[in-house]
Amino acid sequence: MPEALLPVSATARARAQALLDFIDRSPSPWHAAASAAALLEAAGYTRLDETDAWSLAPGARHYVVRDDSTLAAFRIGQAPLTDSGLRLVGAHTDSPGLRVKPLAGERRGGWLRLGVEVYGGPILATFSDRDLSLAGRVAIRDPAMPFGVTSRLVRIEQPLLRIPNLPIHLNRKVNEDGLRLDRQTGLPPVLSAVEADLPAAETLRRLLTDTLQIPADGLLGFDLNVYDTQPGAFFGPQREFIANSQLDNLGSCHAAVLALLDSDDSAPQASALCFLFDHEEVGSTSAKGADGSFLDDVIGRITNGCGLDDQDRQRVLARSMLVSADMAHAFNPGHPHVYDNDHRVHLNQGPVIKTNASQRYTSDSLSAGAFQLACERAGVPWQHYVQRSDLACGSTIGPMAAARLGLRSVDVGNPMWAMHSARESAGAADHDAMCRALKAFFET
Ligand code: ZN
Repeated sequence: MPEALLPVSATARARAQALLDFIDRSPSPWHAAASAAALLEAAGYTRLDETDAWSLAPGARHYVVRDDSTLAAFRIGQAPLTDSGLRLVGAHTDSPGLRVKPLAGERRGGWLRLGVEVYGGPILATFSDRDLSLAGRVAIRDPAMPFGVTSRLVRIEQPLLRIPNLPIHLNRKVNEDGLRLDRQTGLPPVLSAVEADLPAAETLRRLLTDTLQIPADGLLGFDLNVYDTQPGAFFGPQREFIANSQLDNLGSCHAAVLALLDSDDSAPQASALCFLFDHEEVGSTSAKGADGSFLDDVIGRITNGCGLDDQDRQRVLARSMLVSADMAHAFNPGHPHVYDNDHRVHLNQGPVIKTNASQRYTSDSLSAGAFQLACERAGVPWQHYVQRSDLACGSTIGPMAAARLGLRSVDVGNPMWAMHSARESAGAADHDAMCRALKAFFET
């Protein structure tokens, strides 16, 4: 049984509510980066562009966005970087789900359905019978911009799509076999009854141009995520749990940004960075993924911007440490057999340190020890997770980011249920605990 449950204090509840609101504002990774940018702007961080030269001084507070969905935010401390190193926290903006195909639209039996690809590893069955809609970004014709194209966020607020189940009378074994959705034929959500003579893909284009109020020939393309319109909620007799989409990993993104902002005044010496990457759920190898150039590029721009050379950059990294923050698998009492008995972690018992001898997680005794000390200073408990030895272990951005930079790293995350479900759940007290632990790390 769980011991020492954290109370959901007024502060913790407000933090959890702020997380639910953050997720509700962020129905796609492109929106998530914009939501993080808005928090940073409100706290006085200013945007830098990768096309400009950067000149940085102690006290500088900036952020940079690559291709709308990957973001880095940083604060330059008063201490020389070669003396203090960097405190890095990394998380990811993307979540598994469904992405709309470019010529989306398929007629079947008089119905128009949206062609979708599966992005990452969602629990597909959880997307059925939900009030789905579309959000993401579109490419718009703009002669004033490089290559003649610019991007805009788009979100259709009302429920628009549905993947209806069969009635049990026509699928008698669904409770024995589970719900199976064929990715090509069973998954495309229903959009509408087909309008006479209107090309299938045209219905979606019209929806987008009407929503954005742009001329029909202005829309060049789109990157659209299918999202669940149900807002986040508290549940439980004490409202001690939270439910929403994308807790993995907007929970860690939000905690990382809040911790950075909270540590601003109390840690003027330390230099701190937050990295929020897209494309973690599909392996991170891309121009803006954690296994791409963004990490090196931003750190290089910072050290160069502070007047340091390549050797100094290596000296800075040798003094630095990364906390890779991604969610963790909390014990689910309905399925006790899938956990290692000694390494069960529970909702509302604080941040989880994840260990894997095959380096699917980067934690070792020293990096875990450093994180434990941060938790100690923050006054929050911590837990240790190790996957059962007879089950394959997941991974996250930690190993590739640490490998690219060659620095000490620990993999942590808050405990949650139903990772990669359309509706995930977690403890209402843990978010505040993680914010405080990361703040203490930034202040180290
Ligand atoms: Zn994740």
